[in-house]
Amino acid sequence: MKPYSFCPVCAEKLDQAMIDGRQRMFCPSCSWVHYINPLPVAVAYTVNKHDEILVVRRAHEPALNEWALPGGFLEAGEEPHEGCLRELMEETSLSGKVDRLIGLYHREVEMYGSLLVIAYRVLVDDDTLRINHELFEAGFYPPHLIPEVRIPLHRKIIMDAALHEGVR
Ligand SMILES: [Zn+2]
Repeated sequence: MKPYSFCPVCAEKLDQAMIDGRQRMFCPSCSWVHYINPLPVAVAYTVNKHDEILVVRRAHEPALNEWALPGGFLEAGEEPHEGCLRELMEETSLSGKVDRLIGLYHREVEMYGSLLVIAYRVLVDDDTLRINHELFEAGFYPPHLIPEVRIPLHRKIIMDAALHEGVR
């Protein structure tokens, strides 16, 4: 994420100062302060009727070509669980139901900066997949046969979900 150089309100050149305990960019003309907050992301740990888990191979950065859990950024005005199900629907055409919250996580990603990640366990009845352009492939796998997920956060979510279920 590149820092702003100019005020998005009045176009004045920004300065830096210690504000509320951190170095932040601010506008000397209109006092606008660039507070940087994490972006909320919802991730769907999705399970079908056979207790198989959905993993997808990403067709975009970050983590291009990596196996992952589906998910994406929440939209303004959206409940976190709605965003989670919307992302699942967009990427895979699956219609899911949120079962429970797995956990909340913070991660720094070079492309987007600070992320607040909300991971839900999602159940699907009909597991017929139709993937969109964001994915190369997707599939449901028994827990012990999942392709290697190398994104540390997604590994953690899978482990946390399994811990809760007493499954390894
Ligand atoms: Zn300004």
